[in-house]
Amino acid sequence: TQSLFGQVEAFAGDPILSLNDSFKADPRDQKVNLSIGVYTDEKGRIPVLGSVRAAYERIGFAERPYLPMDGHPGYREGVQKLVFGDRHPAREAKRIATIQTIGGTGAVGIAADFLAKHTPGRAVLVSDPTWENHHGLFQRAGFKTATYPYWDAKNRSVNFDGMVKAIEAAESGSIIILQPVCHNPTGVDLDEKQQAALTDVMIAKGHIAVFDMAYQGFGESLEADAAFVRRYAERASCLVANSFSKNFSLYGERVGGLSIVCRDADEAERVLGQLKLAVRRSYSSPPMTGGLLVATVLGNEDLRAQWTREVDEMRTRMDSVRKLLAERIRSLSNEVDVGFLTNQRGMFSYTGLTAQQVDAMRERDGVYLVGSGRMCVAGLNEENVAKVAQSFVDVSQA
Ligand code: PLP
Repeated sequence: TQSLFGQVEAFAGDPILSLNDSFKADPRDQKVNLSIGVYTDEKGRIPVLGSVRAAYERIGFAERPYLPMDGHPGYREGVQKLVFGDRHPAREAKRIATIQTIGGTGAVGIAADFLAKHTPGRAVLVSDPTWENHHGLFQRAGFKTATYPYWDAKNRSVNFDGMVKAIEAAESGSIIILQPVCHNPTGVDLDEKQQAALTDVMIAKGHIAVFDMAYQGFGESLEADAAFVRRYAERASCLVANSFSKNFSLYGERVGGLSIVCRDADEAERVLGQLKLAVRRSYSSPPMTGGLLVATVLGNEDLRAQWTREVDEMRTRMDSVRKLLAERIRSLSNEVDVGFLTNQRGMFSYTGLTAQQVDAMRERDGVYLVGSGRMCVAGLNEENVAKVAQSFVDVSQA
């Protein structure tokens, strides 16, 4: 047959998703998956939260009309209250435009499309390193992307001076992608003083902040984790993408939100219209079942309280396995520095291990980390932590 697509290149695959496939194909029983960014419980399962199960029972299965382009109204309200807080001045002034999106990815994608149309040609800066798709989604929308320094490898912390200098040196009006909490992949965040200092610089330069908040509730609490975004939004316009994949454990339902904080209610109304148009031209309207689940939990006081406790439990478990791994490593060797494990937060730790050390852990011991040295601590549990500690020490001292 005639070939129409003979020139099509093979897709190299997403390195993290490919690693997950290799993990599944690995025949060893004692293998440990610390690569993909999915929260699993003590037994290694993706949890079904009790609050979400209760919401599912309530909604049952009824007719399935299209949702509006901007999503379920209760869902959008829930996003705003959760991200900005009930009493945020921007919310009270009705100057936030919020839509339901297809996960956090969809939120960042629509943000990129919106900015490409309304503020074209700006420089886009993302942290070095970052979630890879920040580059991809903004490039797809037509932007060139560059980076600002973020990771201080020597101290395994944030290179805040480098970050601020680069953001100060960027052309006025640049688009700056910021992860406000539980930075992927490093696990290190700005403290409150650094957030305030960065906010001053951002506003002085007229930069456009795009916050990507994929782990609200996994740092300190649902409320505390949103503080950076909330304070910023009191002072300036910004875009906020949020994901419910992790904190609702609803990965495959594709639940997220995009909010744009505007100058006044009239601007917000027009911006909302443009967001709807961007959605209409892309996928028309968001999916319903996940939207109903989240809207039901967030809109009901008891379910929301239950959900908050469940988020707290996930976070507490991750904090405790971080400690456990640090203790196990320390009991095997005094020479390996493990302070970073408990200083970093959220699902990820940048371990500082090299690609060769990561390969060695996988090949010899069946312990899977990402090649960059990123470890998903949510995959640790009491059963596998000893093995991970031993493997970590072996490759660190080899
Ligand atoms: N942004 C960041 C920083 C992430 O780490 C992730 C998920 O890994 C996402 C966005 C995507 O979220 P979702 O799975 O909801 O599309």
